[in-house]
Amino acid sequence: MTPSDSPINPFETAKQQVDIVADRIHLNGGLREVLKHPKRELTVNFPVRLDDGSFRVFTGYRVQYNMARGPCKGGIRYHPQVTLDEVRALAAWMTWKCAVVNIPYGGAKGGVICDPKAMSQGELERLTRRYATEIAPLIGPEMDIPAPDVYTDSQTMAWIMDSYSMQKGYSVPGVVTGKPISLGGSEGRGEATGRGCSYVIREAAKDAGVRVKGGTVAVQGFGNAGSVTANLLHDEQGATIVAVSDSKGGIYKAEGLNPHSVEEHKRKTGSVVGFPGTKSVSNDEILESKVDILVPAALENQITKRNADKVGAKIVAEAANGPTLPEADTVLFQKKVTVLPDILANAGGVTVSYFEWAQDIQGFFWPLNEVNGRLEQVMVRSYADVHKTAVEHKVHNRTAAYILAIQRVADAIKIRGFYP
Ligand code: GLU
Repeated sequence: MTPSDSPINPFETAKQQVDIVADRIHLNGGLREVLKHPKRELTVNFPVRLDDGSFRVFTGYRVQYNMARGPCKGGIRYHPQVTLDEVRALAAWMTWKCAVVNIPYGGAKGGVICDPKAMSQGELERLTRRYATEIAPLIGPEMDIPAPDVYTDSQTMAWIMDSYSMQKGYSVPGVVTGKPISLGGSEGRGEATGRGCSYVIREAAKDAGVRVKGGTVAVQGFGNAGSVTANLLHDEQGATIVAVSDSKGGIYKAEGLNPHSVEEHKRKTGSVVGFPGTKSVSNDEILESKVDILVPAALENQITKRNADKVGAKIVAEAANGPTLPEADTVLFQKKVTVLPDILANAGGVTVSYFEWAQDIQGFFWPLNEVNGRLEQVMVRSYADVHKTAVEHKVHNRTAAYILAIQRVADAIKIRGFYP
């Protein structure tokens, strides 16, 4: 469920975002149409044996949006509400994300309609192995490299790597990223999305005149990206985490929460709700909290025209993909809220995925300090590029990030030329 008044199609949002920038940078009709269409899409329907012995048919997708700048890259999501248009939007956003941080990839995304919370490990393993086999013709280290996303993790990637390798007859660690370290995963990949987000917040806070040390933070979605961002803002930058939420509800404590203890509580009970000494808050209260920094780290379509005016934060750092609608961007810009757009703020994950893939291909692995040092360089440089573009063009950060990204993808398409 989205908090908006009507169902919102994320792919319509993604196309609208392209149009806004295409107008600005005068992209011609043909090129603009290319950027508004996914290159290749695969829908797969496949049976999975459940623990009770029965079979159920599941539907999954893999969309390769654009590969002008290199192999496609993007995660796989397991969620009951996955749709083809959502996967298309997420694949488009991966294309712009890889371009904005200037790593040599196009964009893709995958999704399977399922409720992973209601499935056993065995069922999830069989679903993953069969889905991997169904999309195997499209993936590979030189073509399209999946990674974790909502409700998938390093175990999911290990099963995909194994299923793909079994068909090839040899081990292919570079077919997916976000793997366990023992299988060719990278140091630092597990926390890379949150770490990258914390670097971008640090840089933006300086420009926006917002204090992080002693400043207050609310996090919507306490999964991998949200919890790591909270931990790092708390541990490394001295921020006070006052509110966090997950799909079951939210909690608030004015004096501040220890995010590590909240994580532990969630691990034990399945939710942040009920953490001792806190007050329950709704999803809307989290989004509207009067804090220095709001981190939407859940799903799409959270900040809409319905609630944009009520956002109480000075900085909105999008650890999630697609949490803010274009109509809400305009409101936040007028309110002088600094929005750190998803394609920049959460690009730390795919950046360390790139490092992982490069390490796998070379068979040469880096220590954690090298991974984090290079990640910091990429995030600091990319934030500076986006900020400079925003100032030059007098636009908000999302439009600035899109100007950089779309220009890079368009240049690659133009210089390659149209085939045949
Ligand atoms: N799912 C993550 C994202 O949305 C990571 C993708 C990747 O590492 O390929 O950026």
